Amino acid sequence: MSTRRNILKGAAAAGALGTFGAGYAETLKKLAKGKWSGEVPKAALTGNSLTPEYVIDPDTGDLAMNPDIAMSYTMCIGCTTMCGVRVKVDKAQNKVLRVTGNPYSPMSTDPFIPYDSSVKDSFLAMAQTGKGEGLTNRSTACGRGNAVLQQVDNPRRVLKPLKRVGPRGSGKWQTISFEQLVEEVVEGGDLFGEGPVAGLREIRDLDTPIKAGAPEFGPRANGLVVMNCVDDGRDNLLLRWLKQSYGSTNFVRHGAYCGGAYRSGSGAMFGDVKGMPHAKPDFLEAEFVMFVGTAPGNAGNPFKRVGNLIAKARSDGKLDYVVVDPVLNNAQNGPSGERSRWVPIKPGTDGALAMAIIGWMFDHDRINHAYLAQPGAAAAEAAGEVNWTNATHLVIVEEGHPRYGRFLRGSDIGLAVEGDAYSDADPFLIASAAGPVPAGAEAAPLFFDGMVETAKGPVAVKTSLTLLREAAASRTLAEYSEACGIPVATIEGLASELTSHGRKAAVNSHGGMMSGSGFYNTYALMMINTLIGNLNWKGGTMIAGGWFPDNKGPAYDLAEFPGMVTPKGLPIGRNVPYEKTSEFKAKKEAGKAYPADGPWYPQAPGLATEWISSMVNHYPYGAEALIFRNTNPVYGVPGISHVVDKLKDPKVVPLIISIDPFINESSAISDYIVPDSVMYETWGFTKPWGGVATKATTARWPVIEPKMEKNAEGQRVGLETFLIGTAKQMGLPGFGDQAIPDADGTLHPLNRAEDWYLRGAANVAMIGKTPVPEATDEDLALSNVARIRADLEAVLKPEEWRRAATIYAKGGRYENIERSYQGDKATYAFGAAMQVWNEGLGSFRRATTGKRMSGAPIWFEAEFADGSKVADHYPAADWPVKVMSFKSPLQNSYSVGAKALLRIVASNPVVVGRALAEAHGIANGDMVRLTTPGGSLESVAVVRDGIAPDTVAIEHGYGHKGFGAQDITIDDDVWPADPRLASGVLLNDMGMVDPTRAMTGVWVDPVSGTAVRQGLPARIERI
Ligand code: SF4
Repeated sequence: MSTRRNILKGAAAAGALGTFGAGYAETLKKLAKGKWSGEVPKAALTGNSLTPEYVIDPDTGDLAMNPDIAMSYTMCIGCTTMCGVRVKVDKAQNKVLRVTGNPYSPMSTDPFIPYDSSVKDSFLAMAQTGKGEGLTNRSTACGRGNAVLQQVDNPRRVLKPLKRVGPRGSGKWQTISFEQLVEEVVEGGDLFGEGPVAGLREIRDLDTPIKAGAPEFGPRANGLVVMNCVDDGRDNLLLRWLKQSYGSTNFVRHGAYCGGAYRSGSGAMFGDVKGMPHAKPDFLEAEFVMFVGTAPGNAGNPFKRVGNLIAKARSDGKLDYVVVDPVLNNAQNGPSGERSRWVPIKPGTDGALAMAIIGWMFDHDRINHAYLAQPGAAAAEAAGEVNWTNATHLVIVEEGHPRYGRFLRGSDIGLAVEGDAYSDADPFLIASAAGPVPAGAEAAPLFFDGMVETAKGPVAVKTSLTLLREAAASRTLAEYSEACGIPVATIEGLASELTSHGRKAAVNSHGGMMSGSGFYNTYALMMINTLIGNLNWKGGTMIAGGWFPDNKGPAYDLAEFPGMVTPKGLPIGRNVPYEKTSEFKAKKEAGKAYPADGPWYPQAPGLATEWISSMVNHYPYGAEALIFRNTNPVYGVPGISHVVDKLKDPKVVPLIISIDPFINESSAISDYIVPDSVMYETWGFTKPWGGVATKATTARWPVIEPKMEKNAEGQRVGLETFLIGTAKQMGLPGFGDQAIPDADGTLHPLNRAEDWYLRGAANVAMIGKTPVPEATDEDLALSNVARIRADLEAVLKPEEWRRAATIYAKGGRYENIERSYQGDKATYAFGAAMQVWNEGLGSFRRATTGKRMSGAPIWFEAEFADGSKVADHYPAADWPVKVMSFKSPLQNSYSVGAKALLRIVASNPVVVGRALAEAHGIANGDMVRLTTPGGSLESVAVVRDGIAPDTVAIEHGYGHKGFGAQDITIDDDVWPADPRLASGVLLNDMGMVDPTRAMTGVWVDPVSGTAVRQGLPARIERI
């Protein structure tokens, strides 16, 4: 008998099969054409595999290149890991055929080969014959890396400048010339028949305030704002154009809706909430690692390297690890048995677990006294420590004191200070029997709670560690267990394990921290590392070793130039103190300084999450021109759909330009699209985000000819041509014939991309005591850098070009692996205090409440901007489920056009745990409706084990409306929508606005301002 449910299931199944069929069509075709259809393989052993790139004579070790193939070392940008890779190029077809790893690069190989190995030796090293060790040195790219090269040939690439026809977002475009593009965006005019639009030249007013009566926001030029995705090695040129040449301060990347909560919470630990340093475990030497909200080899950064190292460590080394995550991904490895375990946790409650562990460490005296007791550099050195903490520093805790939450300093107790009060010269104070004394070269008391005499009378103070202990003790272990859903015994077991390996244990996290409690969750987790004292120690945690910078070096100064301007004013993202604004002053004078009209985030870096809200609300000020550079906040910011429609009104932001190879959800609402290069067509220099102890610069160069059309000067249109072309049209400093100073001050031109990147390569090559060796003709030939030899010789000096060529021949510059550690300590140790109490955090007032936040980690239950608990607005009785997002190792937010990935995983169902499914009568394959206060979606349910109770998970990277998921019309040609690109659902469509904000804005973490996509309150029903 057919029931309504069965009919729907049938429909869903038919739909799913249709998607499967579409996704696997090419595979099925190949199967039909293959061996089974009678086709005979060309070779008995290798079948129809690609022709080898080179052959090595097993007897002589001689290497013979295939003349039709080029092998080049460059960089994959299939994800933000940006690995050094080796690509196989079909020269005649101008096509990358395959991607493997670069054996010089730590991002792809461990151990990586010595940098002084010739290119030929690097090829030999990976071979089984001759001198090679075969698989031992074989260097790999990941599955996504091998698929996303398809994006170069994606038929939906934008190759010519586009101008919208009709309303914004209507999907209709006309092609225009590069010269028309530059003319229109610079000079403005009635560009769309909708009235006058100010061009970039007019907006670049460096004198008139952008907001009358509020000079703190700087000049009108700040009305040009740039939203970028990630620094793929091209940001230095973009930043030069925007900030130093144009004069706008407004630039932001995507971190606030990626892993920003983790980076900010880590920044609080490292005492740098703007720079956001973070450490990674020393995976190979650690004995125990607790991953929280990130699974090794599944996501995070550098995910491929971490995956490799963990696999090696659990098979060859001593490592045991636990992954604490609401959903089990690739975390656990069956054959490694007990060495890898999964612990489910309620989404967004990691801080409760961390504070429980911290409390247990205090209760059982399992903190590293010797490390924590050192109050400064001199004491740390004397004690043989690599760095120190502020655990022993005294904090003012006197309610009503003007310096509440700040450290007691020498000037507070009347000490003579050689320098300004509260400057670096003003010593931090520690407790002693004689009262507070400056932190010196000896260990200090860890705990103190009492009154001290100051120049202005007695003041209550406590040490940072006392405050942390109190914060941890504010709940019982049972209460923390209840909050995070992890049994008390398991918490105790984790705490015991973490503190049973000396310094060879670590906690690691990343994007899983994007919840309403994300900032404090991270700060608490990272505090466990500090209490262990593992930073800079082999087997503990390590900071990245740094890099060889391209921007400023012995050859050229790309960072400064004659006539450069300094941008002024507070940024549009409100990541600065509210107390600096005229609004604050006016309200204070009126008697009530708080609440502000909207939230401010002084502890946060740039906030893409808040930018669109700022623009549509004109708070703190509006934007006249917005550039999306290869970024997609419309897809990526949870809940932004409630705000972004207003951007379609040209009166809100009159000019929107996208620089992007594709029409994604964000470039779709722009007025102009500037085409751009993709993957192996592009230039750039990057450094590892973390996890590499040595200095490393990865170099990317066009190993194939880019596909974009050429401008009238014969250059391929893209980011660089747009920046250079518009700068020259406006006559901006820093571009044109006299732009780049060399070491002697002689100015060199910046008229094309090569002028910039090749000089950067010269810097990378020549920095340090010993420049890299000159590339030989053999290096140039084997790496195919011969392809750009003419440019190298034309742009660089005779003594420079062969060294710069080495950077490209080897895909970057990499310090040898032996530099990782000196004895048991990291060579590049982080040498500043770990913040057991962060005084910036502990002393600021939330603009929307006027209340202070804790300067130490706490278990912070998610709040909206007005300080009310999210759980009170959306109680569990009405919203019994929590929704979370997770990433797979294959798909990300911009990879959907690589169809090979869709042939592996065609869509993303809603993942439901078995108990939750049974409670709602949901069976595998049922259609379900998932609803949050922010929206609703319908999809197929997959019922499985490996997910925390009352939790529903959605994989990120699907549910697109851009990239060709909808029809696009260009010059009367319709590019029809491809349903495969639209498959699945997007959690962000259910993201929430903050109902307590007077002006519409998405729900964000109140400290870091970062997006919330973990732990959305929800309900689920079968339909
Ligand atoms: S991890 Fe994979 S997709 Fe990401 S950069 Fe490396 S090879 Fe490319």
